[in-house]
Formats: sequence, C-alpha cells, structure tokens
Amino acid sequence: MGTLFVVATPIGNLEDITFRAVRTLAEVDLITAEDTRQTKKLLIKYNLNTPMTAYHKFNIKAKTDYIVDLLSQGKNIALVSDSGTPTISDPGYELISGAVAQGHRVEVIPGPCAAITALVGSGLATDKFVFEGFLPKKPGKKNKRLTALKDEQGSVIIYESPYRVVKTLNSIKEIFGERQVAVCRELTKKFEEVIRGKLGEVLEKLKDRTIKGEIVVVVEGSEQATQRERRS
Ligand code: SAM
Repeated sequence: MGTLFVVATPIGNLEDITFRAVRTLAEVDLITAEDTRQTKKLLIKYNLNTPMTAYHKFNIKAKTDYIVDLLSQGKNIALVSDSGTPTISDPGYELISGAVAQGHRVEVIPGPCAAITALVGSGLATDKFVFEGFLPKKPGKKNKRLTALKDEQGSVIIYESPYRVVKTLNSIKEIFGERQVAVCRELTKKFEEVIRGKLGEVLEKLKDRTIKGEIVVVVEGSEQATQRERRS
C-alpha cells in the first residue's frame, strides 16, 4: 500500500519549506495540489518535475476516490494546498479521512501555517488559543460566531480578507468590548506587518489606509483581558 504524505508548503516566502518536504515532493509518484499553477511555482524553485493533479473543493468526492485507489495500487501521493498546511482552511480533510478509513498510512510533514505564525508574533498569550478560521460573511451569522467566541479564555485566531477586516474589527469591539489585538498582514513576505494595540487604537491606525494582502487577526482571550484589567 502507498503512503499519503500531507506536506506543508510556504505561506509566502518560498524558502520556508523543510528539506524533508522537498525530498518527499521529489520522490512521490503524484502530487495532489489545490491549484497546480500555484504549486508549479514551488516545483520550479526546487527543480522538481513530479506529476500533479488538481484536488479542490469542486472535485473532492471524485478525486478522493481516485487518490485512495492509487494508494491501494501502492502509489505514494503528496497532498499540498496553495499555501501553508493542507486542511487548515484548505481542502484535504476528506482525502485524509478516506485514506485512514481504507487503512492507508498517512504521514504529515509539518511546516508553515499562517495561524501559528500570527499567534506567535502577536505578543498575545499562546498557552491557550482557539482557531476560528474564516468567519461567516453574513452579518447575522458572523455576530453569532463572535458572540460564541467572546468568553473564550485563550487568544482567538481569525482568517480575514483585507476588504472585510475593518468591519470585522468593529464587530469584535462591539461584541467583545475593548481587547488587545494583532492584525498580521503578509506574513513572511516583503510587506510583512503586524499592527498591535487595543481594538480602538488599531482601528484608528487603519482609518485612512487601503489594506491589502493576506491577513490573520489575533484577539486577546477573555482570561488575559481580565488579568490585564485587574493590573491596570
Ligand atoms: N492553509 C493555510 C495555512 O496553513 O495557514 C491557510 C489557507 S486559507 C485559504 C488563506 C488565509 O490564510 C488567508 O486569507 C489569510 O487569512 C491567511 N494567510 C495565509 N497566508 C498568509 C500570510 N502570508 N500572511 C497573513 N495571512 C495569511
């Protein structure tokens, strides 16, 4: 039986990849990629010419069956997403659970993840945290999720688009009250930036700016907020 390798790839800086990840991508029979054009850039950088097939939200069922069948034939397959760790707000869960259900070996090759990179650089507590990923787009559902997150003790990690980030920060302030926050933009890339401060301060800093690029918002958890208030 073949092995499914789940391979983390860079979240911006193409040098952020492990030796083992590159070797695995070179050695497998097939790479299953969220977008083959995106992964091609990585393969070119590391002089790899392993065949690729697309695996994305529109062909999950058919492709899962196809890949699991290849594993049964003894092929070794690497699963990658466009950036970071597959399955973290990215496709791959169905393939991994399908492979596990059929008794195939699954090996994860760890590496970059925007959520962890942002949390560590945020300056907020890392001992407990909650990963929310993308909030719902519709205001009603979004506010419901934020209300559910309000009393989380640990730091809250949210993936957000640059077009919605100010609106989301305002909603967080309304629902959570004043908290420390870190808006982490373009991590590992040329225009990397982390804007830290109280929600009100960060909103003030963003007021007259056009915000571009990829963004992770890390919000102080209720426990740290309470301790900070007691100290002040
Ligand atoms: N699988 C990825 C991971 O491991 O982080 C996440 C993929 S998800 C589709 C893409 C979202 O992750 C972006 O919209 C942004 O919120 C966040 N993200 C990815 N790369 C980032 C970066 N370099 N800087 C800031 N946020 C990033």
